[in-house]
Amino acid sequence: MASVPKSDHADTGADHWGPETLAVRAGQERSQFNEHSEAMYLTSSFVFDSAAQAAARFSGAEEGNVYARFTNPTVTTMQQRLAALEEAEGCIATASGMAAILAMVMALMKSGEHIVASRSIFGATQQLFGAILPRFGIETSFVEATNLDAVRESLRPTTRLIFIESPSNPLTEVLDIAAISAIARAAGVLLAVDNCFCTPALQKPLLLGADLVIHSATKYLDGQGRVLGGAVCGNKTLTDEVFKFLRTTGPTLSPFNAWVILKGLETLSLRMQAQSAAALLLAQWLEAQPAVARVHYPGLASHPQHALAMRQQRTGGAILSFEVKGEREAAWRVVDNCRLLSITANLGDTKTTITHPASTTHGRISAEARAASGINEGLLRIAVGLENLVDIQADLQRGLGRDPANF
Ligand SMILES: *Cc1c(COP(=O)(O)O)cnc(C)c1O
Repeated sequence: MASVPKSDHADTGADHWGPETLAVRAGQERSQFNEHSEAMYLTSSFVFDSAAQAAARFSGAEEGNVYARFTNPTVTTMQQRLAALEEAEGCIATASGMAAILAMVMALMKSGEHIVASRSIFGATQQLFGAILPRFGIETSFVEATNLDAVRESLRPTTRLIFIESPSNPLTEVLDIAAISAIARAAGVLLAVDNCFCTPALQKPLLLGADLVIHSATKYLDGQGRVLGGAVCGNKTLTDEVFKFLRTTGPTLSPFNAWVILKGLETLSLRMQAQSAAALLLAQWLEAQPAVARVHYPGLASHPQHALAMRQQRTGGAILSFEVKGEREAAWRVVDNCRLLSITANLGDTKTTITHPASTTHGRISAEARAASGINEGLLRIAVGLENLVDIQADLQRGLGRDPANF
């Protein structure tokens, strides 16, 4: 049973609701019109009944909305619903996933401190940690986080944060969140998990001991490729710091985007279940294709961390990658023969997407570094959507070189 976070804004009722109920009900507060669906409050500021109330709101003596860079009711509802799903005490929404990561670091760290980050993290996060934060005196060590000793050994007295993503992109490497959280706890260091690929529908890092969960709501939370958004979830002491940073600096979530994401959350669990069920079938089918050398998918028994993935996640997720025999030429042939699948680096959409990481998302990494990380020229990544599986297979079959009529 998930608990509903207590909040002055919330009218979430029972704290014994299951996740399905929380997904469609948590955080809703009706206006004087008693609307059934959540209202969207497109307003940048709020009016007060009197000078005394204005003063009380500004001083914080009275709770309530003042200005939308601080709070907005639609954003608050979305935050409460996501907090309920992650089983987090607090949740703060941001303008994008990157804004969430930046806000977390800026709110909780200072110059002279150190981050330990998994080597396999989102490209922009690598850039932020590796190229931007050093200018502000924050250094990052990138480690092979499947190796727990490497994580432990990279800790310094100044380390404040361990940052990981699981499963990784594009090779779907699974990290042991509970084990890494034990290392963080023993060292008095915070653990943040970017839960973008699994979402709370499949994995709840806070229950495994993480202190913070990061989201790019742009991906599965919206789930339909419409808006950018992000969030930081965790205990209130931490998210309050993030809130203070955001309300001063401004990369907050717009009420329109919050409303779209709120509606996305209502179908999140159904989408994740359907998309990961299709991903498993597709992974099994790809494994049987003669033109395919290898399939990376945590739900397959052949995956090196299959047992861990099945312990930690509800399913293998909706993202898989596979190596086509014949290097770049053969991989590009598969992409170029797609008529249904979208050729785009984005993921987390109801529309299936396909990308060739070595020439796109991971194209700026040196060939040696790419080879060392296992992202070779034959690798393709698919984020499985909600189309009919047979149609997805037929689209891939064309480029893989067998007659699609034969299956
Ligand atoms: C997309 C993504 C981000 C960044 O999110 P934006 O909303 O694009 O800023 C962070 N982490 C992961 C794993 C992502 O896929």
